[in-house]
Amino acid sequence: MKNDNHWMQHALELARVAGTKGEVPVGALLVRDEDIIGEGYNSPISRHDPSAHAEIIALRTAAVMQQNYRLPGTTLYVTLEPCCMCAGAIIQARVKRLVYAAADPKAGAAGSVFHLLQSEALNHRVEITGGIMADEAGELLRDFFRSRR
Ligand SMILES: [Zn+2]
Repeated sequence: MKNDNHWMQHALELARVAGTKGEVPVGALLVRDEDIIGEGYNSPISRHDPSAHAEIIALRTAAVMQQNYRLPGTTLYVTLEPCCMCAGAIIQARVKRLVYAAADPKAGAAGSVFHLLQSEALNHRVEITGGIMADEAGELLRDFFRSRR
């Protein structure tokens, strides 16, 4: 069975693509039964779309492929802790598990700032594993912002 690092490595490759296009380097993929069923990288600038975060694109791609807006039994891998918008989409899609790399102390909604994914108030809770390959993801983000200064 492929482990979390294997999939996160792929998400990091997607993040690098975003970086080469001048977008904040974040990548995401959705896995079910050892298969990638959706993937995306951050692209709000090029798409002129404030919702074009990596997670949203991965979920949209998967939902269209599956012809189903619910994606139960899936694991979402993302290189940066999801924001509130993405956490909302993760809940709407009924994603089973979230694995993220770097925590986002400014906007993270998987525990750093908000705890949306495990809120008692909602009828769906998401299992969370954070910190998988966090150093690599963090370095990618730091390099990106450093090069823009
Ligand atoms: Zn987001």
